[in-house]
Amino acid sequence: MGERRNIKNVALTGFSATGKSSVAKIVASVLGWRVVDIDNEVVKLAGKDIEVVFRQEGEEKFRHIEHEVLEQACKDKYTVIATGGGIIIDTPNRELLHENCFVIALEAKVETIYHRLVESRYQSGSPVVRPLLGGKDLRESIKKLKSARQFQYVEIADRTIHTDSLTVEEISAEVVALWNSFAHDKETISDRKLDGAACVVNTSGGLYPVFVGTNILDVLGEKLSGSGFKGKVAIISDSNVYALYGERCTESIEKEEFKVVHHVVPAGEISKSHDEAIRIYDFLIRERIERNDVIVALGGGMVGDLAGFIAATYLRGIPWVQVPTTLIGMVDASIGGKVAINHAKGKNLIGSFYQPRMVLADIKTLFTLPERELNSGWAEVIKHGLILDKEYFEVLECYSSELKKLELTIASEVIARSACIKAQVVSEDEEEKGKRIILNYGHTVAHGLEAATDYNLFLHGEAVSIGIMVAAKVSNKSGLLSIENVQRQQNILRRFSLPVEYTGISFESIIQSMKFDKKVRNETIQWVLLEDIGMPRVVDTIDDSVVIESLHEVIKS
Ligand code: NAD
Repeated sequence: MGERRNIKNVALTGFSATGKSSVAKIVASVLGWRVVDIDNEVVKLAGKDIEVVFRQEGEEKFRHIEHEVLEQACKDKYTVIATGGGIIIDTPNRELLHENCFVIALEAKVETIYHRLVESRYQSGSPVVRPLLGGKDLRESIKKLKSARQFQYVEIADRTIHTDSLTVEEISAEVVALWNSFAHDKETISDRKLDGAACVVNTSGGLYPVFVGTNILDVLGEKLSGSGFKGKVAIISDSNVYALYGERCTESIEKEEFKVVHHVVPAGEISKSHDEAIRIYDFLIRERIERNDVIVALGGGMVGDLAGFIAATYLRGIPWVQVPTTLIGMVDASIGGKVAINHAKGKNLIGSFYQPRMVLADIKTLFTLPERELNSGWAEVIKHGLILDKEYFEVLECYSSELKKLELTIASEVIARSACIKAQVVSEDEEEKGKRIILNYGHTVAHGLEAATDYNLFLHGEAVSIGIMVAAKVSNKSGLLSIENVQRQQNILRRFSLPVEYTGISFESIIQSMKFDKKVRNETIQWVLLEDIGMPRVVDTIDDSVVIESLHEVIKS
């Protein structure tokens, strides 16, 4: 089959009694499309029932009319086509479907089909007669005919839905979600969607753009409609951020004729909780948010993690978009799809990987961010230079005072570059099974520090800053990073008002917390070290004495 595809329709294929006709009607009404039921059209064109066509004129004539009807339907766009069970046996039909339609096969076991057919015979006074299932042993006829066609169903399908335990409504919702996801990827590849993106994150679930700019909150609505979203937009935000930017985002989205609803959680890490998640589910259910609607996470990393967790779990996953308003959010938390809520036993213990459909970062929102929060974000930016890009690190050294003042031209460029470094790492290793671990430079100690102080002494970037100082010293003592580069790292952290040492914490508690860190594998801590600026190295075994000595130089009790 050729690869020339111009997909503008959805086609449902599959054996008899898999729900094609009923599902097509529902899907067409949800998408606002036309529905064509091939068997019904054949009956109209032939002027008689299918069974009569088969009996009087033979299968060949039936297939001829069926092909004509399919050809006509495929010429259209925005059509949901319910095909007959045997349409896929002819190569020209398969080609027509492949070239013009997103093909979803509805699959069911022989036993399920048997029971559905028997039930429909009982329930209907005039059951649909299926000419090729007329033998004495219905179960055996289904089995034979299905196995003869199975290969073609599989060959032609872009996606398959196993319908055995699903209702017609559930199958329809799945079809709509699959189409939306496919249409989103198709759109993403088009220039319109990517227009102006700083970078694109490439994940197994599709591509998504990261926009970084100034005043781009005002084009949020445009970007949403440009991404193919329709229906409702549910903004999830925190009390500080919503008060500052909620109305502006709502206006922008409403301009594009979306219905906008919102839910505001109290600012602070305390909201990344099970209780708050339940309140948000209640809100979404109350507002009748459905699978083709979209969640917008407006806020810092806390809101992003929480709203993303909700998006991943509500209705088994609905689309979501990140609008980060903190520097950590822009260069780190919003990119990569790590979503989570906290548990009493630890941070981010309940979560998943669930990628957003778009990230839109308006640098100007950083003007209202408290200075300490802003500085905390610079730690992640500096870390990106240290682990992956020496030239970028030198830009940070050179423009540190302009960046601290958020001079827009340079700040936009630098923040966009940092977001792109994160996007690049995530694209190469979506689920942290390989390269993504380098983003944890400094994080083993940082998490230990945060846990040992009950998450209320340091902001995350501050803990990272101290953590990367320990990691740099370990690197140096392991014969890797030069002492000059350790000093350069320390200097730049200081310029961004970040801590490079700390006095007043029990040393033991940090070590204990480090051992409980998620990144501990089989009792050994994987250390991300530096050979040089921009050259990371992951090391499994480091002498305890090197770690203790380095910790002692940075953290004092
Ligand atoms: P945050 O979201 O709690 O925001 C910090 C504070 O700044 C809050 O009080 C917030 O209301 C306020 N705020 C946010 N934007 C503002 C603005 N523009 N103007 C004024 N005030 C504003 O904190 P954060 O540092 O952005 O994120 C920390 C969270 O992110 C943690 O929960 C952490 O676990 C998570 N995180 C996740 C990832 C990831 O990959 N998913 C990465 C890093 C951090």
